[in-house]
Amino acid sequence: MLSPEETEQLRERLLADRDRLVASAHSALDFTMDRDRDRVGRDSLDESTEEALYSTKLRLHDRENFLLGKIESALQRLENGEIDECEECSDSIGFQRLMARPVTTLCIDCKAEREQKGL
Ligand SMILES: [Zn+2]
Repeated sequence: MLSPEETEQLRERLLADRDRLVASAHSALDFTMDRDRDRVGRDSLDESTEEALYSTKLRLHDRENFLLGKIESALQRLENGEIDECEECSDSIGFQRLMARPVTTLCIDCKAEREQKGL
C-alpha cells in the first residue's frame, strides 16, 4: 500500500509523462498540418473542431497512442488505489519500481517470469 505522499509523487510523475507525450505529439502534428496547409491552401483551414480532433487522433503516432493509453489506465489505477497491486499475483509493486516505470502492472518477479516465457 502506498502512502499518500508516494501516491502524490507517482501522480505527478504520470501527469508529467502525459504532458510531455501530448506536447511532443502536438508539435509533430503542427508540423504535419503546416505542410498540408502550404500544399492545399487556406480553404482547408475551415475544418470543424470535431474533424480536427478526429484527424489529430488518426495522426498521432501509434506508439504515442499506446503509451498515452497506458498512462491513462495507470492514473485510473492510481485513483482506485490499485496501482501498486500486481495484476498477476496481487503482491504489492514497490514504490521504487513504480517511480522507475509508472505504467507497469506487474511486480518484478512476475515481470521476470513473463520475460523468461518470452511474453
Ligand atoms: Zn506479481
